[in-house]
Amino acid sequence: PAREQVSYFGAGPARLPTSVLANASAALLNYNNTGLGIAEHSHRSALSSNILTQAAQYFKTLLNIPNDDSYTVIFMQGGGTTQFSSVVYNLVGYWVERRLRKHGGDLEKVRADLKDMKCEYLLTGGWSLKASQEAARLLGDEHVSIVIDARKANGGKWGIIPEEKDWSLVEKKDSALAYFCDNETVDGVEFPSFPNALESAEGEEDERLVIGDMSSNILSRPVDAKKYAVIFAGAQKNIGTTGITIVLIRKSILDCQPSPVTLRALNLPIPPIMMHYPTLASSSSLYNTLPIFDVYIAGEVMSQLLTSGGVAAIAAAAERKSSSVYEVIDKNPTVFTPVITDTRVRSRMNVCFRLVKGKDGRDLEKQFFEEAEKKGLLGIKGHRSVGGGRISCYNAVGEEEVAKLVAFMKEFATKQGHTY
Ligand code: PLP
Repeated sequence: PAREQVSYFGAGPARLPTSVLANASAALLNYNNTGLGIAEHSHRSALSSNILTQAAQYFKTLLNIPNDDSYTVIFMQGGGTTQFSSVVYNLVGYWVERRLRKHGGDLEKVRADLKDMKCEYLLTGGWSLKASQEAARLLGDEHVSIVIDARKANGGKWGIIPEEKDWSLVEKKDSALAYFCDNETVDGVEFPSFPNALESAEGEEDERLVIGDMSSNILSRPVDAKKYAVIFAGAQKNIGTTGITIVLIRKSILDCQPSPVTLRALNLPIPPIMMHYPTLASSSSLYNTLPIFDVYIAGEVMSQLLTSGGVAAIAAAAERKSSSVYEVIDKNPTVFTPVITDTRVRSRMNVCFRLVKGKDGRDLEKQFFEEAEKKGLLGIKGHRSVGGGRISCYNAVGEEEVAKLVAFMKEFATKQGHTY
């Protein structure tokens, strides 16, 4: 089929605006009349440097991050998964170096403090679980503390966020980082807002340093960046093509990192150079060859988001899109079952549902996916690990496309004998 005949609700990589792709295909052949395509230009050229600066600036503008040097934006490779490791290296590094300075360089005292050092994880789905497993692999289980494990409070399944009164946080002085996944892409659970329990008072000495994985909901609603030490997001869902990850880092973390000698003496892992935030920041993300084409696409997408009303407009559209899908699911309980029943934590980005078995034993799921595909409604199968259906309503998915899908779902339900 032609591009216009297909609506795509895949969970990532996701749809990109057609106009951006049309311009990009011309840019691949000849960028700005230079006779060279964008992917052929040196990553160290002035042209590439402009693309990088511009994209970082769009990102900061969209998220309302002041240009006062308190935060740095870097572009990295290796996807969100590489950040599972990077945040551990860099935040544990920051914790160690602060201790070392506090103890006047006395390594023995740091070694004693280190026994209680924890990386704290809020487990609300498969991605936060994977991140916590990486911390345990790098540091040992004794340095990982699970603040919540949503499965334990929900009969072994993801799908809820336990109440904050039931969270087990460690003392702030022992916490090197507190990690959560803002939107669990596979399981369809999204934090409604920044958790109160992770807040620190301004200027507090032992602030809890919060890491937010926003790989699947970045730029879909306003974020108070000041509350975070690090926010990261792979570009391939809401911002651009697969290949770059945007990492927002509080500047103070970059300025306070231990030497490899210190880390070795403390038996802590030394960050590979490509995961060492200060190295990447001081080389303006160009320690090695960065795929500038991907940064260019991200910049074009973000520029378009800015001119079409910024994050507030995107957030309103995301709300409309996801609620219309949840509505058709909720109103047809004999055909569809929502995976997430607590409406407060339902993801606006990834709507997960199942199909009820037909009365006559028919597999409605198979029929549903086949009919959807015939209508050009693609990418709606759930993650291979969980099955069912998943409709991803990322930024570039148009409201008219969601309306088409919702109309199909209503029609499908009606055909099974349910009037909407
Ligand atoms: N975090 C979240 C929330 C994700 O959805 C994903 C991938 O879908 C990842 C992390 C891992 O990202 P990547 O595949 O870019 O390594």
